[in-house]
Amino acid sequence: MKLNIDYQEKFQHRHIAPDQTETVAMLAQLGVGSVDELIDQTIPAAIRLKNTLNLPAAKSEFDYLNNLKITASKNKVFKSYIGKGYYDVIVPGVIQRNILENPGWYTQYTPYQAEIAQGRLQALLNFQTMVIDLTGMEIANASLLDEGTAAAEAMFMQYSLRKNVKAKRFFVSEEVFPQTIDILKTRSNPLDLELVIGNHRTIDLDDSFFGAIVQYPAGNGEVYDYRSFADSLHEKNIKLTVVADLMSLVLLAPPGEWGADVVVGSTQRFGIPMGFGGPHAAFFATKDAYKRSIPGRIIGVTIDNAGNYALRMALQTREQHIRRDKATSNICTAQALLAIMAGMYAAYHGPEGLKLIAERIHGLAVLLSESVKALGYGQQNEVYFDTLTFDAGLVVNTIHAEALNQEMNFYYQGNEVSIALDETTSPEDIQTIVRIFAKAKGKTLADANFEAIKEALQTPIPAELQRTSAFLNHQVFSTHHSEHEMLRYIKSLEAKDLSLCHSMIALGSCTMKLNATTEMVPVTWAEFSKMHPFAPTDQVGGYMQIFDELNKWLSEITGFAAMSLQPNAGAQGEYAGLLVIRAYHQANGDHQRNIALIPSSAHGTNPASAAMAGMKIVVVKCDDNGNIDVADLKAKAEQYSKELSCLMVTYPSTHGVFEESIIKICDIIHQHGGQVYMDGANMNAQVGLTSPANIGADVCHLNLHKTFCIPHGGGGPGMGPIGVAKHLIQFLPGHAMVDIEQGKSIPAISAAPWGSASILLISHAYIAMMGSEGLTNATRYAILNANYIKARLEKHFPVLYAGANGRCAHEMILDCRAFKNSGIEVTDIAKRLMDYGFHAPTVSFPVAGTVMVEPTESEPKHELDRFCDAMIAIRNEIEDVEKGISDKINNPLKNAPHTAAVVTGNEWGHPYTRQKAAFPLPYVSAFKFWPSVGRVNDTHGDRTLICVCPPLESYVFEENLTE
Ligand SMILES: *Cc1c(COP(=O)(O)O)cnc(C)c1O
Repeated sequence: MKLNIDYQEKFQHRHIAPDQTETVAMLAQLGVGSVDELIDQTIPAAIRLKNTLNLPAAKSEFDYLNNLKITASKNKVFKSYIGKGYYDVIVPGVIQRNILENPGWYTQYTPYQAEIAQGRLQALLNFQTMVIDLTGMEIANASLLDEGTAAAEAMFMQYSLRKNVKAKRFFVSEEVFPQTIDILKTRSNPLDLELVIGNHRTIDLDDSFFGAIVQYPAGNGEVYDYRSFADSLHEKNIKLTVVADLMSLVLLAPPGEWGADVVVGSTQRFGIPMGFGGPHAAFFATKDAYKRSIPGRIIGVTIDNAGNYALRMALQTREQHIRRDKATSNICTAQALLAIMAGMYAAYHGPEGLKLIAERIHGLAVLLSESVKALGYGQQNEVYFDTLTFDAGLVVNTIHAEALNQEMNFYYQGNEVSIALDETTSPEDIQTIVRIFAKAKGKTLADANFEAIKEALQTPIPAELQRTSAFLNHQVFSTHHSEHEMLRYIKSLEAKDLSLCHSMIALGSCTMKLNATTEMVPVTWAEFSKMHPFAPTDQVGGYMQIFDELNKWLSEITGFAAMSLQPNAGAQGEYAGLLVIRAYHQANGDHQRNIALIPSSAHGTNPASAAMAGMKIVVVKCDDNGNIDVADLKAKAEQYSKELSCLMVTYPSTHGVFEESIIKICDIIHQHGGQVYMDGANMNAQVGLTSPANIGADVCHLNLHKTFCIPHGGGGPGMGPIGVAKHLIQFLPGHAMVDIEQGKSIPAISAAPWGSASILLISHAYIAMMGSEGLTNATRYAILNANYIKARLEKHFPVLYAGANGRCAHEMILDCRAFKNSGIEVTDIAKRLMDYGFHAPTVSFPVAGTVMVEPTESEPKHELDRFCDAMIAIRNEIEDVEKGISDKINNPLKNAPHTAAVVTGNEWGHPYTRQKAAFPLPYVSAFKFWPSVGRVNDTHGDRTLICVCPPLESYVFEENLTE
C-alpha cells in the first residue's frame, strides 16, 4: 500500500452535493458531454472571466476552525459597560442551543407559506405581544433591522401621515444615541426633510414640524418625564416617536401611557449576544390607527379552511413586493430569528423573572452611583435605570488606564465617564468599578461606604415614572419557566415548520443553499459574540482581520475596488448603493441627476429603495423573451439623458437568464452619464465565471444570506454589503461612533459600523473553505442542477425564458397560468406541494401565476428527482381536473394542504382517497411532514386584524372538523 499522507478533505465536496455518478447522469439528461460544455452554452463568452479567482487555497473544515481560533484570540473579551444600545446578556442555554444553533430554526425561509410555518409565526406573534405589552402600544411588527433604522422608519411613517403637507421639519433630541442621529441624517437628506437637533426642554415646536423623537432613558442615562413635552406636541398635531430600552420598560412607565405615537428600539437585551453589532431584532410599535402605514412584517391571527386558529403575515399590501415604490418601506429580510429568540427569552423568564433581572440591574446601578458619589465624584443623572455619567475631572485618564487594567470598558467623553450596567453585572463587578474610582483618588473601597450604602438603597425613580401596569399576562409568558417546558415548547413549534432539515427549498432568487455547521459554529464563540461594537480598536484585532479578508475576497469575487460591510440586508445595500451614486453625482455638480431606470421585472425592493433615495423611477420594458427591451432602454436613457442617475439591473435577470445584451445596456447608461447599480441577489450564477464589474456595473450589493451561506433564519438575519468601483470608494458609508470615514462618506446606513458583524463569519468561512475552485464549482453546479430540473420538467410545465442556447441560468420560471382555465391557481400548486413534503418555490415573482425554481448546488440529484417527481405528479392531478376526471372544486389541489386531523377525521367528504391526499407518492410514506393547519384564510385575517396572542379560550379547537 502506498503511503497516503497528502490527503486533505475538501469542503467543496460537502457543500456541492452531486457526485461524479450523479453528474454524469444529469449531463446525459441534458445531452451535453461536460459541465464546461453546459456553462459555455449558458454564459455568453463576452462576459466570462479570463482568470480564476485569486483567493487563498481552500481550507478543510478542521483547519479553518483551528485557524480561526488564532484569529479569534486577537479579540479581547473585556467587560463592556459602554452601553449606547448594546449590552452584555446571558443567553439562556436552552434558547442558544435549540434556536440560535439549531438548523431546524435557522434554515427556515420567510413564512410566506403559512401552513408549514405556524411555529415561527407563533414565536413571532409572541414577540409582537411582548413588544406591545412592554411599550404600552396597540400594535407592533415582527422586527426591523436595528434601532437606528427603526427610528428612521418611524420618522418616515410620521412624515407620510402628516396633516400639514408643508411640514418638513423633524425634531431630534440631542440625547438620542449618536449612531441613530447619523441614520436619521442619512434618511432625511434625500427626502429634503430638515432635522432640528436640540434640547427637548427648551425647544418650541411650531407647525413646520411633523414629528419629534426622544430617547427613553436618554443617551446619557437620564430618565426624563416627557409628559408635558408630549402634550405640547399633540396640541400642534405633531407626532412623537420614543426610542426606548425594552429592559428599562419593565420598571419604567411605558411610553404608550404617556403620549408616544410610535415606540422603537432594540430587543438585543432580551438574550441576544452583542456580536460586535448584530444581528439583533429591532421593534416598532404604534397605534392601531396607523396599522396600514407600519413598515416591515406583521404577523396576524386568522383561521384555516376548517375554521381553526392559524397565523400568517398580515396586511401584505403595504409591502414592497406589492406596492413597490409606494410601499411603506423597502424592508424585505428583517431579523426573524433574533425576534424569535427575544420572544422566547421573555417567555422563559416571564414577567416576574424579567422584573427580578431589571431590578437587579437597576439596584446595582444605584449602588454604583452612591458608592462613587461617596468617593467625591459627581454623578449627573438624577433619575436613571442602568446608565450613570460621572464627572471624573482631572483623574479621567487614571480611571481609563485602571479600567483597562481591570479589562473593563467604560464610555469616555471629555472628563465624563459613562457606565451602563447589564444582566451579567455582579456585585463583585461593582466593587471592582468602585475600586477603580477609589484608586484614582488615592482612596480605597472602604471610603466608598459600600456596605452601608447597600443597606440604605433607594431607587431614584419617582413614583410617576415607575411602571404600575401589568405586562406579559398571556399564558405563553407564564408556562415555560422550567427548562423542560421551554425545551418542549421550542421543539413543539419547530416541529410545525418545514426547513432545510426536511427537504430542498427551491426558492427562486432566494438561494436556499447549505448553511454548513462549521460555518455556523464560530458565531457563538465568546471572542465574537461578546464584543461591543464600539469597543476600542486595539481590542478587536480578530474582527478587523476577518473584515479585511472578507473585503478583499468579496472585492475579488465582484471585481470591485472595495466593499462596505455595513448594510444589514439586500434592500439596505440597494439603498446604500443608490445614496453612494447620488453622492457621486452631487460631488460632480450634477444635482439634477435623480432618475432611476428600473426594468419592470425588478424585485420590489428596487423601486422601494430608489423612492427612499429620493429618486424618480422610470420603468423600462421587458421583451417577450424576458430580456430588457434595449430599444426602450435606449430611448429612455436619451430622453432623460441630463437627469439620468442610474439603472438598477439584476443579473442574471430575475427571469433566470444571462442576457447577451448586458454589456451594451451598461454602455448606454454610461454614455448618458448614469451609473449602473447591479442587484446581486443572483450572484450564485456568477461567482468565478463572470462578475458585476466585468459586465460593467459600478455598484452592487451581495445578499450574503443567499449566495454566501448565511442562513435565512425564517426571515432574517441577513447581510447586504455593497461593492463599488474605484471612483465611488470615497462615498462609502461612515459612522458616528467608529472612524471608517472614506473621504466623502455618506452618513451611516446601519446602527453598527459593520452591520451584523458576527454573521459575517459565516461568509468568511464559506469562502475560505471553498477557495477559488470550490466557489466556481458551486456556480457551475448551481447552473447544472437548474438545467437538470428544467430538462425534466419542461415537458410538463412551459419554462418561461431561456438563453440563446435554450439554457437557463441558476433558476427557471415554470408557467402555471394556463391551468387557470380549469380553475387551478398557482397557489393550489404551492399548497399541494406541502402534501408532498416540499416548500413551494417562489410564487408569482417576477411573473404572476408562475413559480420560480432555484435548486442550488447543495442539492443532490436524488433530491432534485424527488422534487421533479412531485411536480410531475401534481401536473397529472391538474390534468385530471382538466379532463374532468377530478372534480373542479373538490380535488386534492384545491383542498391542499391536508392535515393529519383532516386525513384521520371521522368523516371524509372527498372523491379521492385519504392515501392520495396525504401519501401521494411512495417516498412520502417513508418520511411524512404534516402541515399543522389547513389552507389559511388571508382575507379573514386582514378584515379582523389581531396581532397579539389572543386568550387561549378564544381558539378552542372544534370537536368535529368536517362538521
Ligand atoms: C432577496 C432579493 C432582494 C432583497 O434582499 P433582502 O436581503 O431581502 O433585503 C432584492 N432583489 C432581489 C432580486 C432579491 O432576490
